[in-house]
Amino acid sequence: MTESKQPVPLHVIIAGAGMGGLTLAIALLQKGFDVDVYEQSPELREVGAGLWISANGDRVLERLGLRGAVDAINLPPQDRVVRFWRTGEQRSVYFRDEDVSKADHTLIQVLRAELQRVLYEAVIKLKPEAVHFGVRSTGARTVDGRAQLILEDGSVVEGDVVVGCDGAHSCVRQALFGPAPARYTGANAWRGLAPMDKLKPQHRTPLASTWIGPTAHVTTYPVQRNGEEFVSFSAQVDSPTWQTESWSEPGELSEALKDFEGWHQDILDLFINSENLFRWGLFVRDPLDQWSEGRVTLVGDACHSMTPYLGMGVNLTMEDAYVLSRCLEQWPNDVEDALRRYDVARIERANRTKAKSLEMLSVFHSPALTSRETAWPYIEQQWSPQAVRERYDWLLAYDATTAEI
Ligand SMILES: Cc1cc2nc3c(=O)[nH]c(=O)nc-3n(C[C@H](O)[C@H](O)[C@H](O)COP(=O)(O)OP(=O)(O)OC[C@H]3O[C@@H](n4cnc5c(N)ncnc54)[C@H](O)[C@@H]3O)c2cc1C
Repeated sequence: MTESKQPVPLHVIIAGAGMGGLTLAIALLQKGFDVDVYEQSPELREVGAGLWISANGDRVLERLGLRGAVDAINLPPQDRVVRFWRTGEQRSVYFRDEDVSKADHTLIQVLRAELQRVLYEAVIKLKPEAVHFGVRSTGARTVDGRAQLILEDGSVVEGDVVVGCDGAHSCVRQALFGPAPARYTGANAWRGLAPMDKLKPQHRTPLASTWIGPTAHVTTYPVQRNGEEFVSFSAQVDSPTWQTESWSEPGELSEALKDFEGWHQDILDLFINSENLFRWGLFVRDPLDQWSEGRVTLVGDACHSMTPYLGMGVNLTMEDAYVLSRCLEQWPNDVEDALRRYDVARIERANRTKAKSLEMLSVFHSPALTSRETAWPYIEQQWSPQAVRERYDWLLAYDATTAEI
């Protein structure tokens, strides 16, 4: 009698345990693949910042069975508004108004570190020893039909596929496609996290706000960690000089207050009361027209780092991860073909989002916003129902769990 053998599952090596690496690991483990993730940090690091997850990212979380865990860390907004920088006067941008848009504009507001913890816990539930901390990779390649991730100590881990989820400065991208020079966008970014109990009562209203002014804008929203509430804020300000491209560069309060001179006190209070302040330069890289080479591919910021103006970086990263898992599931016997199909399914959408996100800088920062008289007609025009539909609906309607591959 012949014994029927189970096929050996593909072994996928992932560089980076950020949002993309962990989402991909869950999707693949759930589909029966073997996965190992190599992360440079010695442990999960607290990066004090909030994240907006929109409907397109949420569909992936839902499919991965993380709805309950994400609800537990979410602090949902009542409304999404744009606000005039000097006075704080606001206009709703039709969040959940079905007459304006058929797309789901729901936002999930979480602390980045909390989301990373939820994703990490889901990974180790499926494979307890899947994530290897304190292991920096330096590149990747395909050798004799096997994928190799090269580690800093010169050793190599080998698998059927290597995926670079190693962020904007990706070593895997560099190994595949060479250096990708970063161009300064003309804006610096600030971010911080202000404990709610240090702020005036008006900050408690759960609004997703974008405050806009002639040369800067600030996105603010409440987030929570174990019941403790904060206002997460991230600000972008035009500046002829730039800082390092790293989200963890500390910034000086006095410089922030200079950048936001004349702004409403509610904004200044966020900077003044923040438990940390970071400042960095916003850079962009040319879009890639190929993400995969041989048995090695890329996910997330590694292949499409973008400006934060549409709040889509993490959402697109989750979409990538799920679509890649589907391609590998559908074509496990021809990995290189599966990766080519992944490229076809994803690159156009990611590059379009990247370009549209950059365009938003000139919408958020406009001379029309200098005075109240010119600001309101501008806001009415730029956030009209039609403008909101055109800007967001195509992004929000995408479903990575069913999109054509
Ligand atoms: C302040 C701020 C606010 C943001 N807000 C939003 C938002 O509201 N909505 C949204 O959609 N997006 C947002 N983004 C963008 C979003 O955070 C990124 O697009 C997303 O995290 C990309 O995921 P990733 O897995 O590609 O990279 P990351 O999450 O950056 O993860 C990369 C991982 O790789 C590791 N790594 C790097 N190099 C190596 C190496 N050589 N070897 C091993 N490991 C390595 C890193 O330590 C890290 O853990 C925001 C970004 C910032 C900075």
